[in-house]
Amino acid sequence: MQRANTPWQALPGPSLRWRGEDTPYSDNFDDFYYSSDNGLAEGRHVFLAGNDLPERWQRHRADRFVVAETGFGTGLNFLLTWQAWRARTRAPHGPRRLHYLALEKFPLARADLQRAGAAWPELAPLLTELLAQYPQPLPGVHRALFTADEVTLDLWWGDIEAVLDDLGHHRRPLVDAWYLDGFAPARNAAMWRPELWPKVAALSRPQATFATFTAASAVSRGLAAAGFALRKVPGFGPKRQQMCGQLSSPPPLPALQGTPWDLAGPAQETPAQVLIIGAGLAGCHTAAALARRGIQVTLLDRGAVAAEASGNAQGVLYTRLSHRHSPLTDFALASFDFASRQYRAGFSAGTLVPGADGELCGSFHQVADSEELARMAPLLQALPQLAQVLDAASASTVLGVAQGSAGYWYPNSGWMSPPALCRHLLRHPLITLREGCGPIRLQRVDDAWQALGAEGALARAPVAVVAAGTQCGELASLEWLPLRAVRGQTTQLPPLPALAALRSVLCHSGYIAPATAEGHCIGATFTPGDTDPELRCRDRVQNLEQLAAALPAVAAPLMDLADTDLPGKTGWRCASPDYLPLAGPVPDRDAFVRDYARLRDNARTDIARVGSYVPGLYLNTAHGSRGLTSTPLAAELLASQICAEPLPLEPELARALAPARFIIRDLGRNRI
Ligand code: SAM
Repeated sequence: MQRANTPWQALPGPSLRWRGEDTPYSDNFDDFYYSSDNGLAEGRHVFLAGNDLPERWQRHRADRFVVAETGFGTGLNFLLTWQAWRARTRAPHGPRRLHYLALEKFPLARADLQRAGAAWPELAPLLTELLAQYPQPLPGVHRALFTADEVTLDLWWGDIEAVLDDLGHHRRPLVDAWYLDGFAPARNAAMWRPELWPKVAALSRPQATFATFTAASAVSRGLAAAGFALRKVPGFGPKRQQMCGQLSSPPPLPALQGTPWDLAGPAQETPAQVLIIGAGLAGCHTAAALARRGIQVTLLDRGAVAAEASGNAQGVLYTRLSHRHSPLTDFALASFDFASRQYRAGFSAGTLVPGADGELCGSFHQVADSEELARMAPLLQALPQLAQVLDAASASTVLGVAQGSAGYWYPNSGWMSPPALCRHLLRHPLITLREGCGPIRLQRVDDAWQALGAEGALARAPVAVVAAGTQCGELASLEWLPLRAVRGQTTQLPPLPALAALRSVLCHSGYIAPATAEGHCIGATFTPGDTDPELRCRDRVQNLEQLAAALPAVAAPLMDLADTDLPGKTGWRCASPDYLPLAGPVPDRDAFVRDYARLRDNARTDIARVGSYVPGLYLNTAHGSRGLTSTPLAAELLASQICAEPLPLEPELARALAPARFIIRDLGRNRI
């Protein structure tokens, strides 16, 4: 869905009434979410048995089984499916991973999910995990990972039609089983419109099934016309009949729309091995995302893990807000929500150690523009877990240290130690790390990528991901990439008594986080095009002065350190001209220039050709200062692309991150 420039706001929740303590009833649609007698038995009968689950998992011959649900509601059907998945005996060749896509236009609040869930004690442990990963009510797709059971949940917050269009954008059948669960057709016509069924059929894999509680004839006619063979079977409880069916005649692919340069040819087979170059945050998150999928990863670095731009002792989980949608804001928020849920899961599981590896202690961002704050305050009222506008007094309270500015409080933000996080991500038996490789080159040999170091071949795999910051261009003949290096210097402060009370992160023109045993890492300077590797005294003073200006109450002890030779670090952030990362397949530049040449005459011309991409080559770079936030979702995007899975981003955002965007942009501006 094209959202850029439209007003930004939270999705409105449903208007709920409760029957008894814990049975939700929709006032908007005048209907129950599920049977008020026995929602669990109803869900198992209508949707699981209706799709022949869990039995079908024994026969399914693919690594992944994909369920799609229209109407996530309270998550009951998801929890029932997850429970059955967890209890199954895995067949030797049966699916290892469950991918559950659910769409919802009126997301329930977390508290309402919890209230409804109180009726299902047997699902309580799963509900607790779901609540911990439950996303903000921001439009778009939100991925939640339940790694112990290899379950992925994609929550698409939006209207059914727009979501089906987004899911269908890549023209790939994805779904094995559909749960069609709107409110009753007479009360919720938008969920049962005949126009939806061809979209459902186009998204269905061969042999896909569906189940629904309704037996309404308009729905059965529509599904039959879209290519499903239908059966009417006994319904649940007092309902005489319900419908189930199977795709019998897959629909032809619709015509290409616009200039679909972001679509590729047929999906490649999921590779057994991938090699990644660059062991910073982007490379380490990509390695972890692929290893989670059972792929053997070799991660190579010319130096050491997290030695360059990802090497600061503390970094901040940033995001950005705006009253209008744009790819920049939408990706900043989607990636922030995903990253903070991922890191929280690491702390809850005990694999990340609070205080040493990071802390999700919240962060306060000073904002000088009072008009901006006044405009955002009402928009944020529905999103208190995302951000709140605070005045200086309240900000001083959450920080624990007096300061004088109003701004945004992000309760789920905090700081992380990028080197500790990278080491945590690499603790997986399928990841092999090779450090100290010296300058690395990539070359295509037969059907594989080979990485070469000074001593010869280092690794070989059918797929390679280049995550080497500003060096990406040189090592894979990608000099055309518009990457720039921005020098940053951080300074390490000893633990200071005046800052001992600081209990959350403060972002001003720089940042400071609560102290670790080694003190605070503060920074950072920002000097594009500066190649000086030495620590500079004037940069240290600048870091101290900026912090002193942001925290006048501690200015004196800070400035006393101006002449002290404090330790620090220089690094180069890799940035792109539009400040968005480059994450996606590498285009065949010559083919793009040839195929889309007519964009030079008119950038809006429709050219009905899919893009040509270099086989098996992907990029993950240009995360600027926001790598802690943006790399987890960018890595998940890449892994999903490499494995031809449903993507964790809307097409508009995946396009905004695609490296090929710069070729299309330059053709449209007649620059190449
Ligand atoms: N499966 C749900 C559960 O387990 O709780 C119950 C689903 S309830 C019967 C139908 C759901 O469809 C509601 O959550 C409702 O908000 C959602 N819905 C209604 N109209 C919609 C639309 N146009 N697009 C997307 N979702 C919609």
